[in-house]
Amino acid sequence: MTRRGNRSPRVAAVDLAKTLAEAGFTAWFAGGCVRDELLGRTPKDWDIATNATPEQVRQLFPRARSVGESFGVMLVLRHNHPIEIATFRSDGTYSDGRRPDAVTFAGPQEDAQRRDFTINGLFQDPHTGQIHDFVGGVADLEARCLRAIGEAHDRFVEDDLRMLRAVRFAAALDLAVDPKTEAAILARSGNLAGVSRERIGDEIRRMFSHASRVRAAALIQAWSLDNAIFADQGAGELWLRLNSLGADVDFPAVLAAWALDRAVFQGSAEELVGQWRSALLLTNAETNGMRACLDVLARSQDWPSLDTAGQKRLAANDWFEPARVMLRCVKADLVNEIDRDLIVLRQSGLAPERLIRGDDLLANGHMAGPDLGRVLESVYDAQLRGEIESKNEALDLARRLAGLSEAP
Ligand code: ATP
Ligand code: MG
Repeated sequence: MTRRGNRSPRVAAVDLAKTLAEAGFTAWFAGGCVRDELLGRTPKDWDIATNATPEQVRQLFPRARSVGESFGVMLVLRHNHPIEIATFRSDGTYSDGRRPDAVTFAGPQEDAQRRDFTINGLFQDPHTGQIHDFVGGVADLEARCLRAIGEAHDRFVEDDLRMLRAVRFAAALDLAVDPKTEAAILARSGNLAGVSRERIGDEIRRMFSHASRVRAAALIQAWSLDNAIFADQGAGELWLRLNSLGADVDFPAVLAAWALDRAVFQGSAEELVGQWRSALLLTNAETNGMRACLDVLARSQDWPSLDTAGQKRLAANDWFEPARVMLRCVKADLVNEIDRDLIVLRQSGLAPERLIRGDDLLANGHMAGPDLGRVLESVYDAQLRGEIESKNEALDLARRLAGLSEAP
């Protein structure tokens, strides 16, 4: 028996739709979830579209929370899953290119028309399974074609972010792009610069976290969207580094790979990271990760000139593995050498526990201060090189380094 809290989000959405239907309303699955299920994929979430007004939704579900205030989107919690219930609507003009100025509650046909791509404009009656297709989305799904609904140009004028959504869906779902849709994007790609950095960053984060990121990078460049995002002239061709990264690599490493593959690396790494941070509204963690990954990559190029301690410290860095994989794309011989060295270095441990810590030094007559940290790091270097092996040896070395007399 399934307990309430364990029910799937799909069951929760079906239950909600049933409640609406029993009250006499139309309640269909809408958009991405219909698309994904037809493709045999598991949707991220199940959205419901209905002819019930937000007021009527609230009467049925008194704890419903209004999310898209003027858009008639209500959030209802069922079996612990938040489900969006949106009233069928048609969108008015988009003076800010993002949100319609006004929405009018309407029928399912108009609601399908306001969506971006035909594959995203489908409805399904969860009770009967019947698909309601007002935009030719089923045929496009079967043909694996991404096509804007109606006049492609108008769809992008309404919301230029849809150009990046087109990249994401084409790449992630492996779809061909309808020529008219592609032509409309090519004609408008520069306008992406007018879209908020937050929305652009979110789309980039989503598409580059996906294994299809190389196709995404190629489409972004083919459509010159990258020039609008970064205000530069990128020229990635082979996507060597992006291609080399595994599916589940961390996003900051993906950013580093994409930046290097785009081959517009002029100025310092710090400038590049700063530019990307503002272009994509990166978080602090993402910015620091991208910087660290580029830094580890740059230092790895000097591997042969590092001593054992330097090599071990580098190899123990969180970003070393993606950096090593990226370096292999351009310097295979060097990485072969690194790999041979690593076999030996691992035998004595890349990051062994420190023989002594700050407390040990303070207890041994050292003064607190910046010198203490330097002594500790030098002692750890000696430990990594295998020059000292015990706590006493470490304490002796620390005293010599700090110019203190030998322990009695
Ligand atoms: P995902 O799997 O990424 O969630 P999705 O298609 O469900 O894909 P959402 O952003 O969750 O995408 O949006 C749900 C639906 O709302 C879409 O399928 C589409 O019909 C519509 N939609 C979302 N954003 C836009 C937009 N910018 N312009 C037009 N329609 C949109
Ligand atoms: Mg969705």
